[in-house]
Amino acid sequence: MVVAPSGVGKTSLTRRLVSDHGDLHLSISATTRDPRPGEHDGRDYHFVSRDKFQGMLAEDAFLEWAEVYGNFYGSPKAPIMDALSRGESVLFDIDFQGAMKVHKQAGADSVLVYILPPSLAEMSRRLHTRSQDSEEVIHRRLSRAKDEVAAWEQFDYVILNDDFDRAYADLAHIYHAERLKRARNPWIGDLVSDLLKEEI
Ligand code: 5GP
Repeated sequence: MVVAPSGVGKTSLTRRLVSDHGDLHLSISATTRDPRPGEHDGRDYHFVSRDKFQGMLAEDAFLEWAEVYGNFYGSPKAPIMDALSRGESVLFDIDFQGAMKVHKQAGADSVLVYILPPSLAEMSRRLHTRSQDSEEVIHRRLSRAKDEVAAWEQFDYVILNDDFDRAYADLAHIYHAERLKRARNPWIGDLVSDLLKEEI
């Protein structure tokens, strides 16, 4: 799971990781917020009405959900379970509370990555440049970022995004190393027992 305050480049990093790795499935969240310019339904989010979201909640369709800045966001369960059953990894681009909920359910099989901005001033500059939020929302995002950053020790990895290419290389290395972990490759056990049966 990749968590970061808004304006830290998390979306660009996660989208690139998914497009570079065919065995990685991005969980597309459902949200009640309006699409921003350039966002597409089904690619960035499933944009749904509050009624539809409530209906999905009633059907227990989410692995986790949260209210963020007055809107609802949730990770639909079915596509996640399908991807896992195909042996793929699932990437969640969700907020801190959601990541903690998924971590509780998935335990040691989940990996928590936090993307750190070089400074709050830089984060504020990026939020103003993308000019998608009002001053009030930007202020709320910055003060929330402070609370989240303070919880950095709960993450397995922390990446500093002061340079996109280096931050992306760090993220890709984490992904590769985690995929190589012994516990994620049960086939190694069979290979080793065959090796041990070989005559020398
Ligand atoms: P934004 O509106 O800027 O796209 O997202 C606001 C925050 O909600 C971001 O931190 C984003 O990662 C988080 N978020 C997006 N989808 C989900 C979700 O399904 N669950 C949770 N808990 N947070 C989400």
